[in-house]
Amino acid sequence: MFLVGLSGGIASGKSTVVAVLRELGCAVIDADVIAREVVQPHLKAYQQIVRHFGTDILLESGEINREALGSIIFSQPEKRQLLNAITHPEIQKEMLKQVLKYFVLGYRYVILDIPLLFETNRLTKFMKHTVLVYCDPQTQLSRLMKRNGLCQAEAEARIASQLPLDEKRKLASHVIDNSGDRESTRRQVLRLHARLEDSLDFLWARLALGAAVAGLGGLLYLLLQHFIS
Ligand code: ADP
Repeated sequence: MFLVGLSGGIASGKSTVVAVLRELGCAVIDADVIAREVVQPHLKAYQQIVRHFGTDILLESGEINREALGSIIFSQPEKRQLLNAITHPEIQKEMLKQVLKYFVLGYRYVILDIPLLFETNRLTKFMKHTVLVYCDPQTQLSRLMKRNGLCQAEAEARIASQLPLDEKRKLASHVIDNSGDRESTRRQVLRLHARLEDSLDFLWARLALGAAVAGLGGLLYLLLQHFIS
């Protein structure tokens, strides 16, 4: 089995690409969904967050107020590090569990949808392929303004808080350019999918080779026995 890391920038079209990959039957693990799940009340990360950040960051329902927490870590880098130290091990454990689930189900590869894949760069070494969903800066800005109802300055500020797509582009082994229409993106996703399906999986290849060698050995043994007796 091998892993494929997928990322993008805000409004570059990652969700659009993931929807096509899921439609094609790919196993996709969404790190954002997991990040929300691991901070649910009574889980280990939740308790640690409340211990370190206090009850002011809780909603009336008892759940974590992500916006309040977000604005704390936005202005205080050491708090961001603390939050990451609490949540990242839990997120990675859950991702590993899901990867194992897909392995048991017989999937040859799993796509990990990780928003900050290229920023943190720590996970890329586990990936056989890394995919960036790219779009040109002007298109990214106008799609973000339209989707989130933001003015130009707000949208520019959000884009500026991320590593530029042109930088991430250099780090990816595969780029899907979503600057054009949806059909053009779909064609590129189909090509990527075909490449992943054809990609040699060394673990399975070795297991298959091992099984073939064992089978031939067995056959040889039976033939020898037949001719000797
Ligand atoms: P991300 O998940 O990277 O934030 P989305 O997939 O949500 O980005 O796309 C951002 C916005 O742009 C959405 O409103 C989406 O419908 C729109 N969009 C994405 N791809 C295209 C495209 N090729 N043509 C036109 N609009 C697009």
